[in-house]
Amino acid sequence: MIFVIIWLICGFGCAAIAKSKNKSAGGWFFIGILFGPLALLIVGFMKAEEAPTDTLEAKKRIEKLKVMGDADALAEMIVDETDLRVCRNAAEALAALGDERGKNYLESPAAKAYDEPKPEEIQALQDLVKEGICPLCGSPFGWIEKFFASKNLGWTCNCGLSSALAKRDWGKVVVRKKTRAAKAPVKD
Ligand SMILES: [Zn+2]
Repeated sequence: MIFVIIWLICGFGCAAIAKSKNKSAGGWFFIGILFGPLALLIVGFMKAEEAPTDTLEAKKRIEKLKVMGDADALAEMIVDETDLRVCRNAAEALAALGDERGKNYLESPAAKAYDEPKPEEIQALQDLVKEGICPLCGSPFGWIEKFFASKNLGWTCNCGLSSALAKRDWGKVVVRKKTRAAKAPVKD
């Protein structure tokens, strides 16, 4: 009986920690039930996942910076931002301010990669998951993640991508992958 209680606590504990790290709470609840305290340790040491970028929030910020004429902050946004859609919006605002850096970015391969993701591009990434390879960074999953991915359950990669984030917007994963591959530095 005491073991059942301990394992249940591990399940709920894992779910709570996973949630605080932007990971799948449901998935980690089951991992907690399966692996008990070991799962608690694993999720405890895992890196927190970045919260999904709020594109609308970013758009508002770009609009504000444009009105203020803060070209440097816009250029910084292009460098730091991982969402190509946001990068492009910032570059357009920067170009509208007459700043060369905005124009340079709009002519870069990263800006040109901003096309709506095609279904076959999304399928290719989903196939990688089935093979046990992270669709974003390309590194192989560990055995637990591999097992979960093969059973179409939740997985999380060290690069921060998880099945929860991917399922929310596979198109965004395609865009992020292209950003990683093609991002050119903004010239001064
Ligand atoms: Zn990865």
